[in-house]
Amino acid sequence: MKYFITTPIFYANAKLHIAHVYTAVIADVLARFHRQKGDDVFFLTGMDEHGNKVYKKAQEAGKTPQDFCDQIFQATEKTWKSLGISYAKFIRTTNEEHEKGVQFILQKLYQKGNIYQKDYKGLYCEGCEKFLTRKELVDGKCPEHNQKPVLVKEKNYFFKLGDYLPAVKEKIEKRDLLIEPEARKNEVLQILSQGLEDFSVSRESVKWGITLPFDKKQTIYVWVDALANYITALGYGAKSGDQALFNKYWPADLHLVGKDILKFHAIYWPAILLALDLPLPKKIYAHGFMTISGKKMSKTVGNIIDPDSLVQKWGSDAVRYLLLSQIPLGKDGDISLEKMQARYEADLANDLGNLLQRILVMLKKYEIKPVAGSFDFDEKKFTDRMNKLEINGALEMINKLITDGNEYLEKRKPWELAKKDPRETEKVLNNLYSRLTLASSLLKPFMPKISEEISRQLKTLDPKPMFTKFIL
Ligand SMILES: [Zn+2]
Repeated sequence: MKYFITTPIFYANAKLHIAHVYTAVIADVLARFHRQKGDDVFFLTGMDEHGNKVYKKAQEAGKTPQDFCDQIFQATEKTWKSLGISYAKFIRTTNEEHEKGVQFILQKLYQKGNIYQKDYKGLYCEGCEKFLTRKELVDGKCPEHNQKPVLVKEKNYFFKLGDYLPAVKEKIEKRDLLIEPEARKNEVLQILSQGLEDFSVSRESVKWGITLPFDKKQTIYVWVDALANYITALGYGAKSGDQALFNKYWPADLHLVGKDILKFHAIYWPAILLALDLPLPKKIYAHGFMTISGKKMSKTVGNIIDPDSLVQKWGSDAVRYLLLSQIPLGKDGDISLEKMQARYEADLANDLGNLLQRILVMLKKYEIKPVAGSFDFDEKKFTDRMNKLEINGALEMINKLITDGNEYLEKRKPWELAKKDPRETEKVLNNLYSRLTLASSLLKPFMPKISEEISRQLKTLDPKPMFTKFIL
């Protein structure tokens, strides 16, 4: 089966932070899980490089916007590689192929009568890159960015969103388009029941972006530009006419997003797709927010965690594991370096690392040639959890496999047993060997390098500590 999974494209106004890494790691675990199952996976990620915010940041840095984006891209690519993010394609919205695709989409919508022109006046938050209603403001400021929106008066082109809202609502209610978790779906339905205004698809005042094909003075709204990546990356609207990837992989099986951008993905994007006569994604999953030591991540608080520094501290696989295990997927959660360190020591160094080293040392000492047998484990339940994106539940099952192994080891004490019953010793160690073999296979999507190293050690009976804290 084909499996097309996407992350949002990350905004190129600053270096990646830990919340971006969190999203990418979840997507990567799912992509690897599906590959392990034998699915034909296309994993898409990328960078959103247009808009005023990027333009301003580039100016501040004394660079051209393109040079600025190139620099952020190089850093992002490096971080993704170091974390083992196994994407098939990294799309950049300044790619010519994407720009042509977006123009094709806008032209098509325009020709179909989905777009009209009107004068517009509104309060625009540059942080959000969107218009806000008065209702959304707190003390006259955008609550998300704590800054005053700017009054923008200009001629814009608008998308007839209203024409598609009933159809979008129906698709969600009929579960043709799944929005998860359930609470997020209800939020979307709530927004839909209140009604939404048409949204503008162009800006007059923004220069760093894609030109609107039917009015060269206008720039395509950065959100429309960004959402389109999910199909332009597959060649939709390509000049060459090469839509093989699009035909093969669209619709997306999963758009993974943060809950702050759910409205764009669950309402605007499906409406655009319906207007283009294209099938809708199968599922949109919105994960929660992350706080750092109880506080919202922000430059002013000074609690932004640089993902590269975490990789230096614990290694990329451990960082993947620690991020996932700190926050129940779909919920908001808090992370802190202290909690991550505690988890590293408890789950990885003590439970997993220690068990592996002890078993290998004993197998060598008692000259046992281990055979990995089948092991009593509910694989169906594990697979179900992964399919339902209950990643934390799946991880708990692996952890239990390991902690149970440690308990079993302490109870059977093969080091004492070896003196009186070699055959029973062999049985006990084989049980643990099989257990670790299974754990290493299950861990593969989560910690690919560590899983490979465990397999190698199990095959060669060559104990080498993988975690810095190592107790024998
Ligand atoms: Zn804002």
